[in-house]
Amino acid sequence: PQVPSLQEHAKALVNGRPTSTNAGTSDRLQIINDAKEFTQELNPQLETWALRDAGFDYDIVAVFGSQSTGKSTLLNRLFGTNFDVMDETQRQQTTKGIWMCRGKGMNVLVMDVEGTDGRERGEDQDFERKSALFSLASSEVLIINLWEHQVGLYQGANMGLLKTVFEVNLGLFGKKTQDSVNQRTMLLFVIRDHIGTTPLANLQATLTADLQRIWDSLSKPAELQDRQLADYFDLAFTALPHKILAADKFEADVQALRKRFVDKSSDNYLFKPAYHKRIPADGVAFYMEGIWEQVQTNKDLDLPTQQELLAQFRCDEISAGALAEFNEQAKSQKRPVEVGKVVEGLGEMMRGWRNQALTRYDRDASRYHQGVYKRKRTDLLATLDSTLSPLFVGQLKNLHKASLVAFKKEILDGLRSEGYNFADVVGQARGRCEARFVEGAKEAVVADDEAAWNWEEELELLREEVRLVADQLRKDETKKMVNTIERNIKKQISEPVDLHLNKAAPDMWDSIMRTFKETLAKSESSYLAKAKSFDCTDEENTAALSTLRHRAWLALRAKIDEQTADTVILGKLRAYFEERFRYDEAGVPRVWKPDDDIDGAFKKAKDQTLDLIPLYSKIAPKDSSLEYSPPSEVPDQEEEYDYAASLVIFSETKALDITNRFRREADAYYVEAKRSTVSSIAQ
Ligand code: GDP
Ligand code: MG
Repeated sequence: PQVPSLQEHAKALVNGRPTSTNAGTSDRLQIINDAKEFTQELNPQLETWALRDAGFDYDIVAVFGSQSTGKSTLLNRLFGTNFDVMDETQRQQTTKGIWMCRGKGMNVLVMDVEGTDGRERGEDQDFERKSALFSLASSEVLIINLWEHQVGLYQGANMGLLKTVFEVNLGLFGKKTQDSVNQRTMLLFVIRDHIGTTPLANLQATLTADLQRIWDSLSKPAELQDRQLADYFDLAFTALPHKILAADKFEADVQALRKRFVDKSSDNYLFKPAYHKRIPADGVAFYMEGIWEQVQTNKDLDLPTQQELLAQFRCDEISAGALAEFNEQAKSQKRPVEVGKVVEGLGEMMRGWRNQALTRYDRDASRYHQGVYKRKRTDLLATLDSTLSPLFVGQLKNLHKASLVAFKKEILDGLRSEGYNFADVVGQARGRCEARFVEGAKEAVVADDEAAWNWEEELELLREEVRLVADQLRKDETKKMVNTIERNIKKQISEPVDLHLNKAAPDMWDSIMRTFKETLAKSESSYLAKAKSFDCTDEENTAALSTLRHRAWLALRAKIDEQTADTVILGKLRAYFEERFRYDEAGVPRVWKPDDDIDGAFKKAKDQTLDLIPLYSKIAPKDSSLEYSPPSEVPDQEEEYDYAASLVIFSETKALDITNRFRREADAYYVEAKRSTVSSIAQ
């Protein structure tokens, strides 16, 4: 066994007792020891470094990367610090911890992480992860140091670790600060031993893509779901050649990089104000201890073992593969559903795609860490279902529409058939419509979960619409029937009314009203007989009957108006008068002789005729039981109809006008009669 080196011996002494080594600005302080304790010496050390009173005028930088990748060497060259560099002859380090130095001649706190490589040793990733998270959360610039050949290797480039660190960092420190600005951090990738055959731009592209992929696969807290990598991090990339093989170039490039940390006027100055945590220097010790405390107590960090990290990575990959295929399949039916098609067998297809994706995931992923496998499976299932759900809902909507269309068509067909029963036609169509929907809906159900694949609500909506359509159809049917009955009424009253108005008997209105009321009564009972098959409500029946009565009355009035129009009524009066003046009681035409009492006969016939005018003027049956009682309310009628006014056929002026016109005509007959006697004498 080898004798421990002096250096190791010294380290062993320091371990467990965090303390500064020497006094002076070149001191280094172990801020976290291998017992994972935070130092109590930071404040005094800041005092020694003359930084305690620097206010905001200081910066913090830390480094992250695999063991023995020249991290300490780089920091020492960049900042003039004196972190331990691994002894070439030993090629192993035993101490763990985070060390801090003050940059030489600059207000910069530099942190270096020392420790075993957890991935190689298998056991202590805990420290590795915690120190990485601590560095990320507390520094303004985090240098991510890696060999060129590590670029693009998930494990080699520490990307797996980075994923966990990002995830926890987001959970712990990801929320916006009070002034709603995100805490920003610069991630500076330093690619070591860059040979030059692959240009930096290509390496940069690979790393950026890796980082983006990691970011997209993070399980983010719900409220930070849509946060982007760029919301929290700026990325910068630089490459350094081999320190020994290209010593001069290495030195020159390091100096150029150093300038970016020092020279505030340089274009790509790295300590941008946006990265500063805005903690005054005298609060830094307390602040960092707080972060360490949070990091230490965080459960998420303790959890993933190497096995789990691998499982997370692989399960994500497998899941993504299964999902890609699934999405392709699901896409094929998206368009048809969107344009309103009821896709035949959609449910079977969806269940098939889903099972296929799960089977594929299970086959490949179930070999990995069970906890991770199951968790990712739940995620996958949620994603699958969230893709299928719109298809399911769309299918239901389309089914609803199609069923309703079929329902309407079936009814219209039914109503065309001879002697149909309306209620039966509707009832049968409704039954078939619902059955069709339910069958289609059940087919589309993807999984047992009734809340997620519910179609009853859509069925209720369909039923509601079916009801509305049926109601509308019934109203249309009722209207049609009322129209038909109205036409019949018109036909039936036409002749009798003509007849009675021509006769002008004193009980003319009694006869007319009797005919009218009998016709109406027959019509009403014929309506009621038919309405039975319609499932009409009482209200609907009352409304229909009121309409019917009102229209019947209008029909009667129209008929009367037609028969009492000026020329028609004058014709009737003339005929009445002629019958009495130009014909004798036996109906024989009179031939006037000079001795005849023309004046007397004329007066009598004229008076009798004039008596008719008041009779025609108003609908007034002598028997009051024959009076018409109008419906109290008529549907769809804008103004109230004035029945009392509608009883009047002629106004007084009108009656006077007709009287005058008739008198003139009668006078003409009188003159004609007189002349005929004169001419007979002259013969
Ligand atoms: P750390 O563990 O990442 O801090 O690495 P160290 O800085 O302790 O260096 C580990 C070993 O790598 C030492 O022997 C260094 O001399 C050597 N080394 C430092 N920088 C480079 C470099 O740029 N290229 C190569 N190939 N080796 C380096
Ligand atoms: Mg080191």
